[in-house]
Amino acid sequence: LVVLDNVNKHFGALHVLQDIDLTIARGEVVVVIGPSGSGKSTLCRTINRLEPIDSGYIAIDGKPLPAEGRELAELRADVGMVFQAFNLFAHKTVLENVTLGQLKVRKTEKQEAIANARKLLDRVGVANQADKYPAQLSGGQQQRVAIARALAMDPKVMLFDEPTSALDPEMINEVLEVMQQLARDGMTMVVVTHEMGFARSAANRVVFMADGRIAEEATPDQFFSNPRSDRAKDFLSKIL
Ligand code: ATP
Ligand code: MG
Repeated sequence: LVVLDNVNKHFGALHVLQDIDLTIARGEVVVVIGPSGSGKSTLCRTINRLEPIDSGYIAIDGKPLPAEGRELAELRADVGMVFQAFNLFAHKTVLENVTLGQLKVRKTEKQEAIANARKLLDRVGVANQADKYPAQLSGGQQQRVAIARALAMDPKVMLFDEPTSALDPEMINEVLEVMQQLARDGMTMVVVTHEMGFARSAANRVVFMADGRIAEEATPDQFFSNPRSDRAKDFLSKIL
């Protein structure tokens, strides 16, 4: 469903993504881990073209990423993204946050968009918050609204970049549970996270990045019990 072939990207002199090859099948959950600065966020951002690449090839569902215009807006809708900071529209209600993209990008009819939004808010457990503004919600609730908003576009793949890192500890699990359920429902997901429990239980595959390269790819079992590379061993010894 998602193909990256020999992708390279620089920020000035920094070679932030180096020869990245990654293929993600439909329904697969890939957890990306690695040290700070290794390029995990940049990798996510290239997949929905928030960052252009210097060379290589990226395709979603067989189609190369468009560079601009209407096609780019549709690509962004196909590739849902949830960031560390919740990024909801502060001056719109929860319900409006979840209907807006459907109306604007998907051209969904209004009543249908609202019905769809209510269903999704229910699915992530915040149905009773629909008429509030983001600032009136807890961080965990806001992040679940952000997930509902991305899902409202009926995406082919969901990207999560440290979705729980900005949350207070007691709110982390409510967000991870929504993500676990999404994984069980068959959503294709790329998840950058430091939550190793989530990686163990939800991931089909762990991708370990170091210095802009994929240093290791393995099943969670293999990776956590028997990492092959020294970089991965070193990383795991610091976090586990
Ligand atoms: P973290 O775990 O801290 O989130 P990361 O693995 O997500 O790290 P990236 O955010 O992808 O790392 O950054 C990789 C490298 O690219 C870092 O050295 C960072 O400073 C650099 N970088 C990221 N964005 C930019 C930018 N817009 N301009 C210049 N350098 C950047
Ligand atoms: Mg990052």
